[in-house]
Amino acid sequence: MSKLGRRKLLGGLLTGTAAATVAAPAYAKGKRRLKMVTTWPKNFPGLGTAPENIAKRVREMTDGEIDIKIYAAGELVGAFDSFDAVSTGTADMYNGAEYYWQGKSTAFNFFTAVPFGMTAQELNAWINFGGGQQLWEQLSAKFNVIAFQSANTGVQMGGWFNKEINSLDDFKGLKIRMPGLGGEVMRRLGAAAVSLPGGEIFPSMKSGAIDASEWVGPWNDMAFGFHQVAKFYYCPGFHEPGAGLSTGINLDVWNSLTKPQQAILRSAFAAENNFTMSEYNYKNAAALDTLTKKHKVQVRSFSPEIMKAVKITSTKVLEDAAAKDAFTAKVYKSFKASLDNSMRWGELSEEAYMKSRRSV
Ligand code: CA
Repeated sequence: MSKLGRRKLLGGLLTGTAAATVAAPAYAKGKRRLKMVTTWPKNFPGLGTAPENIAKRVREMTDGEIDIKIYAAGELVGAFDSFDAVSTGTADMYNGAEYYWQGKSTAFNFFTAVPFGMTAQELNAWINFGGGQQLWEQLSAKFNVIAFQSANTGVQMGGWFNKEINSLDDFKGLKIRMPGLGGEVMRRLGAAAVSLPGGEIFPSMKSGAIDASEWVGPWNDMAFGFHQVAKFYYCPGFHEPGAGLSTGINLDVWNSLTKPQQAILRSAFAAENNFTMSEYNYKNAAALDTLTKKHKVQVRSFSPEIMKAVKITSTKVLEDAAAKDAFTAKVYKSFKASLDNSMRWGELSEEAYMKSRRSV
């Protein structure tokens, strides 16, 4: 290309950019202050610090142009009202766990975790490459929301129990806090499962309103002091093998942002998703040591007999969930195909490696 031609082309591009800038809506210019409600206590390790980190990343990347103010659970709205607050525009964004909205659609469960579902990396694979994000956007758009992955706890613990769980009979009548479809598995095994926001678990355990509760893992559970109200700590967290946490945004607010601002938000969410996974991986081990050595917590594994029954029940719960409506069926089909894909590769990669690492 001649010099003149190149200059002409560049000039054209520059004119185009300038025209696009001028055409941007007036409200997309200047500083934006966005309210983010969360389902977590203020600055709770991992869960509550992730939205703060996101706000910090976004402030830095936009040079202060987007300023996100975080509200802890109960500050602006109750934890479980966060989705409605964003859907109706009371708040601009939420940070929470999608399975808290399962009353709106059963399909939401799949975007956090389902019993005997995906690990963190398997969830990433589905969301980013297996069609998960597209289905999520279709689902959330029905409520005028768009949501993204923005944290992951990795494999959780099975929970805290005030008695040993030696057989399936021990679940009968057990009052346990377990949200999502894991709670439904517990109900089918005879337990009375409830979903409570994190901040309400400790007082409920202490008063005896509930006998058992799952929350996350050693790092988060110790922060709430569950070792003071229950002695037995069970693994594994079959109900949340890689809980994905999310940030949702009111769709009108999202559409009012410039393309660069949207790209910055996407990057901040993706960065925090990766960051939290490594943080949980690192900090759970140290917290587990403190729980067992200092606080004398008794760590137990669910027996193979219990895990077998839980797995059979989980499969039934997922199939029944998918049978509820056509959209949930579509999500389950996509989820299952991606999980099967990950498991096929995982058997020869992570699973094979972990097994051999242990054996020598
Ligand atoms: Ca949990």
